[in-house]
Amino acid sequence: MLTPETHCAFEDFCDEAKKHGFEPKIESGYRSFERQLLIWNEKVSGKRKILDKNGKPLSIDMPKLELMKTILLWSALPGTSRHEWGTDIDVIDAAAAPKDYEAELTIEESFGLFGEFHKWLDSQIESGNSSFRRVFLPGIGMVHPEPWHLSYVPEARKMEQNFTAENLEERLKNSEILLLPQILDNLEWILDNHVFCYFEKLDFLH
Ligand SMILES: [Zn+2]
Repeated sequence: MLTPETHCAFEDFCDEAKKHGFEPKIESGYRSFERQLLIWNEKVSGKRKILDKNGKPLSIDMPKLELMKTILLWSALPGTSRHEWGTDIDVIDAAAAPKDYEAELTIEESFGLFGEFHKWLDSQIESGNSSFRRVFLPGIGMVHPEPWHLSYVPEARKMEQNFTAENLEERLKNSEILLLPQILDNLEWILDNHVFCYFEKLDFLH
């Protein structure tokens, strides 16, 4: 479930968007640790497709460390997905999409079909009109850019402050996660390049 504050903020966001002809729709909101774990394990075991950095499907036939790094391009390590916080959402503009359209959540789609919506979103964020921010931007960290992923700042900030590597490690060790040895050997690298670098930068506020 989204936190109540995030839910309310999204409703306000929708009201504002509607004035400009947009209809924001959440494609993916809250996702549990268990759900993220299932996605992870299905990717590791080849039950769910994995993609290279250009979005091309790959075989899982590669060294385990490389497999882990490839999956991390597109999927968060369980326990580090911001969707687990209930503060982050993947959003499309239903007003621009044909009926029964299946969202792809790709860069092409964000700049194409949903281009006008993203331009408006840019202006909202830049002018400080929105309490949502984009997280997975080009040039930061190693996660493939996701312009559709929005984070409700006031609530996500609390989650970021409470997040610790120790808790994560404990959680992973107590789970059935595949590639655990590779994950634990590289946990600091994973956190630096896939998690902490996307936390809100507070220094410019001072
Ligand atoms: Zn997302």
